[in-house]
Amino acid sequence: MSGIQNGRAAQPAEMSARTGFAGNRLFRDSEHRGAATLTTALEHPDAVVYLTADRNWLAPGDREGFAFSVSAAERLGAEFGEAVLLGTDPMGRPVLAARLPAMPPADGGIAAYELRGIAEGMLVDADTEGRLAQATHLLGWHARNRFCGCCGGATVSEAAGLRRRCTACGEVIFPRIEPVTIMLVHDGAGRCILGRQPRFKPGFWSCLAGFVEAGETIEDAVRRETLEEAGIKVGAVSYLASQPWPFPGSLMIGCTALAAGTEILFDATELEDCRWFARAEVRQMFEGRHPDGLMLPGRFAIAHHLIKAFADGEV
Ligand SMILES: [Zn+2]
Repeated sequence: MSGIQNGRAAQPAEMSARTGFAGNRLFRDSEHRGAATLTTALEHPDAVVYLTADRNWLAPGDREGFAFSVSAAERLGAEFGEAVLLGTDPMGRPVLAARLPAMPPADGGIAAYELRGIAEGMLVDADTEGRLAQATHLLGWHARNRFCGCCGGATVSEAAGLRRRCTACGEVIFPRIEPVTIMLVHDGAGRCILGRQPRFKPGFWSCLAGFVEAGETIEDAVRRETLEEAGIKVGAVSYLASQPWPFPGSLMIGCTALAAGTEILFDATELEDCRWFARAEVRQMFEGRHPDGLMLPGRFAIAHHLIKAFADGEV
């Protein structure tokens, strides 16, 4: 993709910071937002707007990356009333996100990309990738929460998209973040468990994962999901890293888990396959030389980093 920079900062030590969508350095200033914050941000001469239409992010073509000026966004019909101020960038520019009611005409030089493709292809710098993920999560949440869960009244965006308030009963709601555990289950002796969901591309294997349920700790969720999906009891659970996952609004919580048994009895309704992998086989997969062509998730996914830690002997 031309015009979009591909530079990445040197790999930081913190594992979470190596995952896709994590490189977001915006100053959110949530405590000081008020009724005029959105208008003030839109009036800033250097404000940046990311635009979405039909589940795609738009690239203007006449300037770098995915950033539109406020005036260009306005010409395209951006819905500024429901715009979200993502934060202020290190140069002091407000960074916003807004929807277009429809995809712009194809002859306008504007390109459209799905977020997953942007991340998998590493089409943008880490900061932009993180901002687009934040924007995807927030705009999606706003669109799904136009009415109050208490009284059914209409809700309105407040504090430049930080929350919504019901116009009838005053109920205030904040963006929902759904925690998902993703776990590298290992036997402490050089083997780990990987599974295949039916939706995976052929040959791809990954970690087990599942939503945290009400009333559970993260550790309990890891143990329950591993037992449900693989039929394996798990003992000690340790946190390793997290990743924002805006499909549509999760936080992936990456853990390692020590298996208490060896016999896998996987749930065929959730998984197509599930088995033990020796460390040497996992390394073959990372190096692209597995005899059966088996593969692992790319670097943007937290699963990649959990499995890599195992392959490198850190787990
Ligand atoms: Zn209400």
